[in-house]
Amino acid sequence: MTFLYKADPQRGERWAELFAEKAPDIDFHIWPGKADPDKVRYLGVWEPPDRIAERFPNLEVLFSVAAGVDKIDFSALPAGLPVVRMIEPGIVAGMVEYVLWAVLGLHRDMPTYRRFQEERLWKPLPLSPAGGRRVGVLGLGELGRAVLRQLRTLGFQTFGWSRAPHVIEGTMCFGGRDHLPDFLAHCDILVCLLPLTTETTGLLDKNMLACLPRGAALVQVGRGPHLVAEDLLSALDSGQIRDAILDVTEPEPLLPSDPLWVHPRVTLTPHIASMTQPDSAVDVVLENIRRFHAGEPMIGLVDKAKGY
Ligand code: NAP
Repeated sequence: MTFLYKADPQRGERWAELFAEKAPDIDFHIWPGKADPDKVRYLGVWEPPDRIAERFPNLEVLFSVAAGVDKIDFSALPAGLPVVRMIEPGIVAGMVEYVLWAVLGLHRDMPTYRRFQEERLWKPLPLSPAGGRRVGVLGLGELGRAVLRQLRTLGFQTFGWSRAPHVIEGTMCFGGRDHLPDFLAHCDILVCLLPLTTETTGLLDKNMLACLPRGAALVQVGRGPHLVAEDLLSALDSGQIRDAILDVTEPEPLLPSDPLWVHPRVTLTPHIASMTQPDSAVDVVLENIRRFHAGEPMIGLVDKAKGY
């Protein structure tokens, strides 16, 4: 019985140690490795290999080592093959840290003070309390809900948008595309934590950015193709958007010629908002393998029809 791991090989070394310690009956290999393809029952991927069904005829579960599954082409998989995304405490903690850093920085005008510093300008701006700032999160999944919980603790007014309506105490929630403009009108700071699907690709475009209050700020931690970058650049230049913090871009890495690199109102990070932590991730994967064999629902089972 083999688990084949096809993701960051450095972190894979830690996965191998943890499997050896916690599940010695499972033969763990890092891609490409020397695993017998017929024995591969579990495959853990960031970017999956092609022809999965032909390569691994006895595959039982496809695990994404990331929270998103947008790199997996469901149409190329056997219909009955379960796909499980990564839900583990390390990813959640990393995302909460990043979004709090970004929201607090925008709330306290840090990008403006950075520009002032470059001009050697000593200029205090008015300080408004968190309770006067409205923060909206697109996507009320594992990550969006965890981020909102902490934003509420800090005293921000919070808003959320998802596909189906949600009820979250202390957060005003909006559901569905028809209610997106209403939601956006409430966001001084907008955080994108959506999965990438056909429905969400290009969602952050000029029409949507125009629905935000003038001078709103954007924190983009979903996936690069959610955002129409040229529409963001126009919105930044017109003052509709005051600042953008982008952790994800299209493509990744961003091309050297891309204007986002040098725009004074853009802060870029190289897709590091959150990372799967092997120590907690392996526990979840092993629990899912146990659940799979016990016929119990696995944590993070993907609904292929919805795409997330
Ligand atoms: P999740 O639990 O699957 O939640 C997804 C949320 O998005 C749900 O609330 C869902 O609505 C909503 N949604 C999906 N499609 C929608 C649509 N068409 N219209 C409105 N709402 C829609 O996902 P998660 O674990 O929170 O992760 C979210 C995303 O974060 C990942 O897919 C990935 O793109 C991104 N991420 C980024 C990083 C990074 O380092 N930058 C790291 C991890 C994850 P319902 O609740 O109604 O189903």
